Amino acid sequence: MTIFLDSAGSSLPPDVVLAEMTGHLQAEAQVGGYKAAEARADDLADGYRVFGDLLDCEPGQIAFTDSASRSWLSLLDAVPLGPGDRVLITQVEYGGNAVALFRLAEQRGFTVEQLPSDETGQVDVAAAQDMLDERVKLVSVVHIPTNSGLISPVAEIAKAAHEVGALVLLDACQSVGHIPVRMGELGVDMLSGTGRKWLRGPRGTGFLAVRADAPLWPRLFDHTGADMVGTTGYQLRPGAQPFELYEYSVAARLGLIAAARYALDIGMDTIGAQVCERGRLLRTALAAIPGVSTHDPGRERSGIVTFSVAGVPAEQVRDILWEQGIVVTGGRGPAARIDMTARGITEFVRASPHYFVTEQQLDQAVDAVRAIAAGH
Ligand SMILES: *Cc1c(COP(=O)(O)O)cnc(C)c1O
Repeated sequence: MTIFLDSAGSSLPPDVVLAEMTGHLQAEAQVGGYKAAEARADDLADGYRVFGDLLDCEPGQIAFTDSASRSWLSLLDAVPLGPGDRVLITQVEYGGNAVALFRLAEQRGFTVEQLPSDETGQVDVAAAQDMLDERVKLVSVVHIPTNSGLISPVAEIAKAAHEVGALVLLDACQSVGHIPVRMGELGVDMLSGTGRKWLRGPRGTGFLAVRADAPLWPRLFDHTGADMVGTTGYQLRPGAQPFELYEYSVAARLGLIAAARYALDIGMDTIGAQVCERGRLLRTALAAIPGVSTHDPGRERSGIVTFSVAGVPAEQVRDILWEQGIVVTGGRGPAARIDMTARGITEFVRASPHYFVTEQQLDQAVDAVRAIAAGH
């Protein structure tokens, strides 16, 4: 039996998600995509309410996309940025976000600067306050990074950013479905997330949320995002609609909505507590093994546990665990290059247990890591 410790990578969808997707694909093969979608119109529309409930915002503030990166890129592209403007990122900025930001900065003439971290490894909020001025137009924050158990102090950073009028873009890719993410409470203007990770949705799905009155300027949309006015004009649709295109995988969308309903039925407070507790148990047990070190900074920690075994390359640890049916990720991901470089870590193994992982399974995983460390 598989011990699945990779919900930060691509989690296991529950049966209802699978049933929604396969059922809809069958319907499409029988009556065609348009008629099949029409039959599910109410559920598709209800998806905005479901995600509004999940993120504690209005349905109209939600848009569905095909990945967290698509969401993040569309939001970034909609922020008016020009010469002389400053954009601030944190040490744990996601690699995919960073490269796009560097490219856009070249073209539009703004600068990208990194906020310092404090001794616990999270953003140094006091130092951030010193860096903020009215030239800062955007602050990009990663709620939970891809490569450690850190939880960023989002609300504090957002508050400081708003004092100088900057917009706050939150990469919530690792936090939605993992811990409660309430947009208003966090005080962010924009948020991006994915389906396949902690939400247990299908691959190829993502979503975003925007504050109702955020001063954004979406650039590339179709007739789903804007109405044609006469034959020469357009009228942007309200809320987050300009961030969606006409075409999408209806089966995947239905699967994503089912996954979010499933999470809401359990309750995000319950899920958050259970996942973080599993992370704590695993982190503590691994750290106690001679030759094993854990690498999770921050004041507050999530269910993501990163570690290494002295003398054994991370990929080898991963492969040995895989052979025993224990699924983790391992490697030297460019996805977190800035943070890894700053902390002097070249590689790590990542274990990310969801609420469906039992304590007994965690013990088995710890035993397996102990055996790898002892063999060295
Ligand atoms: C996985 C990840 C992303 C990218 O998500 P996709 O759905 O693959 O686009 C962005 N940010 C963080 C922190 C991630 O872990």
